[in-house]
Amino acid sequence: MQFLIGLGCFVAVLAFYYYVLYSPKQHDDWDKLPTLSEYLDKYPECKISDDENAKCYSCGSDKVIFQPLTSHSDPRYKHICLSCSKILFKTKSITS
Ligand SMILES: [Zn+2]
Repeated sequence: MQFLIGLGCFVAVLAFYYYVLYSPKQHDDWDKLPTLSEYLDKYPECKISDDENAKCYSCGSDKVIFQPLTSHSDPRYKHICLSCSKILFKTKSITS
């Protein structure tokens, strides 16, 4: 029984590291997002004068914010519509 509890703890710790720190799901979700140019190919009406941003295809809002996927040092960004909170496309920071 002791052994089983120990094993359970070990698996829980491993799962914690895998899902929380490595977070493959977050990366997978991010990976599936279109890039800005793919997004504009699909929704050409969303093009705006700013080459690094676009409008929301769903509600037409140009209030699209971007945020890093995990922490501030993460070069992976997702762009989210502020009005309807849809995740629209991804970019990667070139500064890091
Ligand atoms: Zn929207």
